[in-house]
Amino acid sequence: MSEILYCKNCQRYTIHPVCSTCKEKTVLNTPARFSPQDHYGKYRRALKKRDKDELRQ
Ligand SMILES: [Zn+2]
Repeated sequence: MSEILYCKNCQRYTIHPVCSTCKEKTVLNTPARFSPQDHYGKYRRALKKRDKDELRQ
């Protein structure tokens, strides 16, 4: 397992929790597709579908 970390100070990617260049703490660089907004969008669509099914009954 290798998480991609990012040093805001040097603006470079690293796998180390602390930047080897400036010794600043690096942050997790999570890809946009894992954003919680996508999760909620999926949840909303599921609810909408369920409401439609109930209307037909
Ligand atoms: Zn750095």
